[in-house]
Formats: sequence, C-alpha cells, structure tokens
Amino acid sequence: TISMAVIDKVGHIAVGTSTNGATFKIPGRVGDGPIAGSSSYADNEVGACGATGDGDIMMRFLPCYQVVESMRLGMEPKLAAKDAISRIARKYPNFVGAVFAINRRGEHAGACHGWTFQYSVRTPGMDDVEIFTVIP
Ligand code: ASP
Repeated sequence: TISMAVIDKVGHIAVGTSTNGATFKIPGRVGDGPIAGSSSYADNEVGACGATGDGDIMMRFLPCYQVVESMRLGMEPKLAAKDAISRIARKYPNFVGAVFAINRRGEHAGACHGWTFQYSVRTPGMDDVEIFTVIP
C-alpha cells in the first residue's frame, strides 16, 4: 500500500491511497482503498490522513475521516491518529494497521497497532525524505 498526502504552496491538500489488496484476497474484493474516509481523507480547512493495514476491518470505522474530523475539533495529529487506531483496537484487538495524520500547518504524526509503522516526510527545504518510525 502506498498512501500519500500533499500540501501545495497555496494550501490545497490532496491524499490518495493505493493497495495491492490484502493477503489472500478473494476475487472481486474491493477493500478499503477506494472508500473515501477509510484509507484516505483530506480537507483543505483541516489536513489529511492515510491508512494501511487490515482494510476489511478498518473500513468499518472510516479511520481517516475520523482523524480529519478530530483535527477539525482541535486535536493534535498525534492524538487524532491514536484515537482513531484505538477505536478499532477496542473492537478488534488483533487487527494490524496504521494511520498517518497531517494538519494544514504541516504538523504530522502516525499511530499503529499490531506492527511497527514507518512513514516519510519531505518539505520543500529538504534534499531527501525523513523517515519516522511509529511504535505501537
Ligand atoms: N489496506 C489494504 C487492503 O486491505 C492493505 C494494506 O494496507 O496493505 O487492501
């Protein structure tokens, strides 16, 4: 899965998530990738979120919509990401997944469950990406 959020110089925010499909996927499976709010969501007024993991579980919670709406209400990206992941973990303690969150000011964070998650960030002043490791 590749999930990427971009903020352009005038503040437009876009996000998209591709997926290879989950392991052992059944033919015709749609998954969480194309479901708005599940594996990605963005709003120029707030920020963006991308997700990876057990899509068939995560799609039931629209975690990326949850993250963006929590940030809209004032939550820091870190807390919003942790909150969305813990909502899923409460019902599905064995699920594996992660989200990243970035607000319109460029503050970002990740949260994960069941695995260690890495995401990378690059801003215009940087020559290369910086990799962040998130521990459950
Ligand atoms: N969420 C993806 C899916 O369920 C898999 C992944 O993120 O690796 O299709």
